[in-house]
Amino acid sequence: CGIVGYVGPQSALDVVMAGLKRLEYRGYDSAGVAVLADGGLAAAKKAGKLLNLEKELDGRPLPTGATGIGHTRWATHGGPTDTNAHPHLDNAGRVAVVHNGIIENFALLRAELEERGHALGSETDTEVVAHLLAEEFSSCADLAEAMRLVCRRLEGAFTLVAVHADEPDVVVGARRNSPLVVGVGEGEAFLASDVAAFIAHTRSAIELGQDQVVELRRDGVTVTGFDGLPADVRSYHVDWDASA
Ligand code: GLU
Repeated sequence: CGIVGYVGPQSALDVVMAGLKRLEYRGYDSAGVAVLADGGLAAAKKAGKLLNLEKELDGRPLPTGATGIGHTRWATHGGPTDTNAHPHLDNAGRVAVVHNGIIENFALLRAELEERGHALGSETDTEVVAHLLAEEFSSCADLAEAMRLVCRRLEGAFTLVAVHADEPDVVVGARRNSPLVVGVGEGEAFLASDVAAFIAHTRSAIELGQDQVVELRRDGVTVTGFDGLPADVRSYHVDWDASA
């Protein structure tokens, strides 16, 4: 339902949690976060309100990292449980992905993955993406390229945002028939399903187009089509009142 991503000098967890709070008004049934820190990936997710996730984080704090993603879920496939909450990880725990929308061909992709030895633990349509990203990344070592390859195999409407522990300064996003906006700051960058999530930090935004992938780094963003060709970037200034 709501998505936030961040890379930059601030604590990614703090930025992502604040962003998720700004998106709470949209309604949701679960929430989760993932942070890249110390060469690894750490995640936490809970059914229920953000307060439940905050309590979980109080009891089991995540390491402080510069790159992170977060999600508030409105379940479509699989009930609102801790396990079905996003982010979803691959079996090695190196990739984390959050998703808005529906992946219509997930059952087929899941069967293929299980045949190749992947163990999927949730009932969501989303989890296949984490496993597919891990497979593609293992041959190209480039998360944006892995995302493009995976997106070409997905059917449905989706916004996807992912991180990989082997590319600790990168957040990758993709969209098809579902909104995703980039916020470009000074030495930091944001991704969200709604500008409300990052407007406290920057008003310089880029609206992703249909079938586009964005790679976020501290020093800038790169947008391509799912085909890998450079895309026209539509930058704009967000001038509405953040408190509205
Ligand atoms: N279809 C996904 C799920 O049920 C994402 C739902 C959403 O947009 O929050 O987990």
